[in-house]
Amino acid sequence: MSITTGTARPGTRPPRIRAVRFGGVSREGVGMPLPPGWVRDAVCAQTDPELFFPDKGGSTAAAKRICAGCPVRARCLDYALDSPVPVSGIWGGLSEKERRPLIKARNRARRYALAELDAQVSALIAPGLRPAAIAAELGCTPVEVRRAVARIKERRSRRSAA
Ligand code: SF4
Repeated sequence: MSITTGTARPGTRPPRIRAVRFGGVSREGVGMPLPPGWVRDAVCAQTDPELFFPDKGGSTAAAKRICAGCPVRARCLDYALDSPVPVSGIWGGLSEKERRPLIKARNRARRYALAELDAQVSALIAPGLRPAAIAAELGCTPVEVRRAVARIKERRSRRSAA
């Protein structure tokens, strides 16, 4: 796993990124929280960091071989796919290029799920009906309902302003 800030280009290797990647030494300047506890079991922490940041056109085979035997591979990949800032290098056995379609698919699924929820909440909204009641009906949380209501209101106000 590796972490880049929003400004770091793929392939660059600021020392702080490696510090975070291989031990969580510093979070200064890093645009995402430190990886959670599973980092302790990261096999890459015991290996050459350079393997996980191959130069453009360089081989990723060695890093992928290491990832294949890593006990936290799934969590590592999940972390990279959910990262709010772009991450470079090999994570969970996949390169940045290989992760891109997964991120797109994940974002698409999330948008679809949110649109579904908004439609269901929209159909249930009624004066005096509390978010908790709607949440109970839909099997989600009141916070999700409130967020859905906010999105619905925003869309309506945008439509009426247009
Ligand atoms: S899957 Fe690969 S990059 Fe991720 S923690 Fe394991 S060895 Fe490191």
